[in-house]
Amino acid sequence: MRWLLPVFLGLLAACAQPGDTPAPPLAEKRIALTFDDAPRARGAFLSEDERTRLLIANLAAAGVDQAAFFVNPGQIDDADDERRIAAYVAAGHVIANHSATHPRLSRVEATAYLADIDAAEDWLRGRDGYRPWFRYPYLDEGQGDRAKRDAVRAGLDQRGLSNGYATLEAIDWFYEAAAKKAVADGHEIDRHALRDLYVQAHVEAAEFYDGLAREALGHSPAHVMLLHETDIAALWIGDLVQALRDRGWTIVSVDEAYADPVAALAKTYDTPVAQGTLTEMVAWQKGLPAPRWYRGNDTRLAQEWFDTRVLGLPTSDAD
Ligand SMILES: [Zn+2]
Repeated sequence: MRWLLPVFLGLLAACAQPGDTPAPPLAEKRIALTFDDAPRARGAFLSEDERTRLLIANLAAAGVDQAAFFVNPGQIDDADDERRIAAYVAAGHVIANHSATHPRLSRVEATAYLADIDAAEDWLRGRDGYRPWFRYPYLDEGQGDRAKRDAVRAGLDQRGLSNGYATLEAIDWFYEAAAKKAVADGHEIDRHALRDLYVQAHVEAAEFYDGLAREALGHSPAHVMLLHETDIAALWIGDLVQALRDRGWTIVSVDEAYADPVAALAKTYDTPVAQGTLTEMVAWQKGLPAPRWYRGNDTRLAQEWFDTRVLGLPTSDAD
């Protein structure tokens, strides 16, 4: 199918007249990139400084003008960590609140949770590149506790913060942890295979969640991909962006993505359990049948893929 895109673009170019303002095609798939947990601890392959330099360089080389970094100021240990955050901003990216210490809302009281958000705001607000967005750690919005969910939603409103939701994810944090463990255990890592697995999982997830969103909403919203500030991202974000473009995706800024009307649903959706991507929550509310999440986000399956493809271990009997 890859040949279809150049043919389509060629037809578009042939139809365009000088002076026309081309309307975005209705079928356009848009996606913004977000990286959680900055500044993240050391991973499998790079020093923290190398990771930041490489991630900035590879985003620029891929033509990604604006990504967002959701920061945990409680993880900022020293001036080097602070410099890494500032480097992302200097490169054109934006920063927002991911709480100070990364608690799970379902495990703490709403007041303590909001105090942790405030501690992060104290560090963030007024800095260059700041955006008033809050991303729930673990995408945990209180799970089954509607009163707690609503208390935090009201607290965000009072603070002028909006929900920095994600519409799709492919558990990149799992692959980063698996790689780190494999290196510590002395395994040989096939880096090309890890790159291919990272790229394939995220492209498949993007297609899956876009299909789900079209079913739930009747159209494709501007998507927000949840990634983490990892070595894997630093090494292979350019490959992922290219693979997305090959499938017809356009990378947009996070500012553009959060201006999408779907953002309104992030503070009103109502499901029995509030935890997950916005796409999943909206699909659930609309009564769409399970599965409403990408199959590769089953960590048992992801482990199987990692073991067989990246470490070259034999397939287990479990599957
Ligand atoms: Zn996080």
